[in-house]
Amino acid sequence: MNAILSINNIAKSYGRIKALDGLSFEVPAGSVFGILGPNGSGKTTLLSIILDVLRADQGNFSWFGQPGSPQQRRKIGSLLETPNFYHYLSAVNNLKITHSISGRGSRENIDTVLEKVNLFDRRNSRFSSYSLGMKQRLAIAAALLGDPQVLVLDEPTNGLDPVGIAEIRALIIELSKKGHTIIMASHLLDEVEKVCTHVAILKKGTLLTTGDVNEVLVDDDLVEIGSGDPDALWEVMKGYSDQLKITREGSILHLILPKGEARLDDINHYCFSKGIVLNHLVFKKKRLEAKFFELTNN
Ligand code: ATP
Repeated sequence: MNAILSINNIAKSYGRIKALDGLSFEVPAGSVFGILGPNGSGKTTLLSIILDVLRADQGNFSWFGQPGSPQQRRKIGSLLETPNFYHYLSAVNNLKITHSISGRGSRENIDTVLEKVNLFDRRNSRFSSYSLGMKQRLAIAAALLGDPQVLVLDEPTNGLDPVGIAEIRALIIELSKKGHTIIMASHLLDEVEKVCTHVAILKKGTLLTTGDVNEVLVDDDLVEIGSGDPDALWEVMKGYSDQLKITREGSILHLILPKGEARLDDINHYCFSKGIVLNHLVFKKKRLEAKFFELTNN
């Protein structure tokens, strides 16, 4: 894997609170990489460390396979907190100010970044006339000044309405297609599923799992079954398949099988052959929420 960022055994405490506890993973070049975890799992702390805003107590990280340098840093754009834009100024004038403070990009670069975030047509409108989604797109435009190879975004859709959320998610995918690697923190499984190619799941400052979204967030099949005698049904189902996991909710059994492996006719036939008649048999595909809950709460 061609890693754009390698994180190696990073730890960070705030007094007695261990925010990060020996975290290691790699971010592949060209990915949209989601750092997924519930509130307080250490996402913002990690992003602050890799952006040199905070110092780790232990461990190290490298961008582009080399130790950090100002030149490397210029290849990384970031949005940790919403910038304070002037409400009475246009997008162009706000970005001129951002450019003169940060020294990133050039005045000519401003039109390009506004085109990238689809605000070029509204570039001369006052910031105060923008929707929430447009305001966030302008914040991303500011992070894009200087055409960084990598964008680091902390909860980029937080606080937006559904239209704004959809706009930002579509923009992230567009920016990725234009060649930017994007690293984003999110507490929303659904968001990571929709937007990201890769994910690292954090729980209390430790890494639970990382990899390709399609491998890590596999969508297991879930089948609900019931019969007059749930205990007998449980006993019988234990012999159904090595790949089967069974849980129970009241009189209903939940059968969890790898994606694409659940066959209702086969389950029904199997039970009947063992002398059990089912009175409930329902296929439920979506188990990701449950899986994420399981991963982060146990
Ligand atoms: P959120 O989504 O709520 O921002 P997060 O996953 O980004 O959560 P962090 O903000 O990195 O998590 O926080 C990790 C842990 O460190 C939490 O227990 C938090 O309360 C604690 N923490 C973060 N910043 C500080 C600080 N400046 N002082 C003390 N504790 C802190």
